[in-house]
Amino acid sequence: MKGSLPRRGLLAAALAALVAPRPAAADGASLRAEGNGVRLVLPGAAGGPWRLLAEARPQRLVLSLPRHGWQGPRVLSGIAPVRSLRWDERASRLYIDLTRPVGAPDIGREGGALVLSIQPGTPAAFARLAGPGRPIATGQGAPRPVVVLDPGHGGKDPGAIGATGTQEKRIVLAAAQEMRRRLEAGGRCRVAMTRTRDVFVPLGSRVEFARRQRATLFVSVHADSAPGARGASVYTLSETASDALSAALARRENAADAAGGLNLPPVPADVQRILLSLVRQETRQGSVRLANMTVGALRPRVPLLPNTHRQAAFAVLKAPDIPSMLVEIGFLSSRQDEAQLKQPRHRAVVATALASAIEDYLERPGLGVTSVG
Ligand SMILES: [Zn+2]
Repeated sequence: MKGSLPRRGLLAAALAALVAPRPAAADGASLRAEGNGVRLVLPGAAGGPWRLLAEARPQRLVLSLPRHGWQGPRVLSGIAPVRSLRWDERASRLYIDLTRPVGAPDIGREGGALVLSIQPGTPAAFARLAGPGRPIATGQGAPRPVVVLDPGHGGKDPGAIGATGTQEKRIVLAAAQEMRRRLEAGGRCRVAMTRTRDVFVPLGSRVEFARRQRATLFVSVHADSAPGARGASVYTLSETASDALSAALARRENAADAAGGLNLPPVPADVQRILLSLVRQETRQGSVRLANMTVGALRPRVPLLPNTHRQAAFAVLKAPDIPSMLVEIGFLSSRQDEAQLKQPRHRAVVATALASAIEDYLERPGLGVTSVG
């Protein structure tokens, strides 16, 4: 018994780390000599607007990153002409203290990073830069990635119907709208939805919509019927289903619309096949990573179906170039799940977990790729 307490503490800490909000971008900055000056790279800092100013007393550059969530280095020692860097979190400003006057820095975006080239300049030129209230440069930041949320069914297709008459199409629309609110409040992505009302949308149109939006991620939300099953589960695309339940779910979902196919560019069939398999391999890794993060975010909060991450040939997951997953937030065929899914409070818990997994994925591209057996 003695040994179990610290371990439980560790588990609690690990769970807390899973659910804790993270800064919008990786912290850190790197500085290296370049010519007579320095090159300063701020990873993740290009995700929002910025503004660069010079001040004469003390002699420094001030980079403002408002509404960012970016975390700079608390203090970083410099290389001349930079004396040191200091991040003021409350003001959302990076102070770049100087050892001598500099010319107007070159500042630009490289991927998600802001990059500054700072070179020595004359005192007169620096005095002009530090003139009252004039920014040296401003920028808008990179456009935010688009996440497409796809509430299943709609209109003439109610989806599954629970024992007390709960319709899947209504439950999943409410859950997706809650996810949208959470994601938009987080400010790290834009959200587009395949439907926002009770209308029928063919499966192929859902995939096409995501591709037109140039979506970074596609997340389909369902609450189907599967006899004997209970709890949330996550599905990624595979031509061979991981189990009978997944195969049956995919069959039923795909039957909602026979025209789930993709319009592929007009190239010879064998070229098309090679291109697709290359793109799909990468997309599949992204999908699996997203699914793993989602299971990790759901696990401490809601009941889960055993072997929570499963695979099957869902037509709606077939965009070859967009990491996609389908989440069954529960099964309306289960009385317990139906009772929970009817409650806005329970849906909010699910939506929060899904939104945090999506934000994690967007924040840490390329991390945690594992395969499923
Ligand atoms: Zn469904």
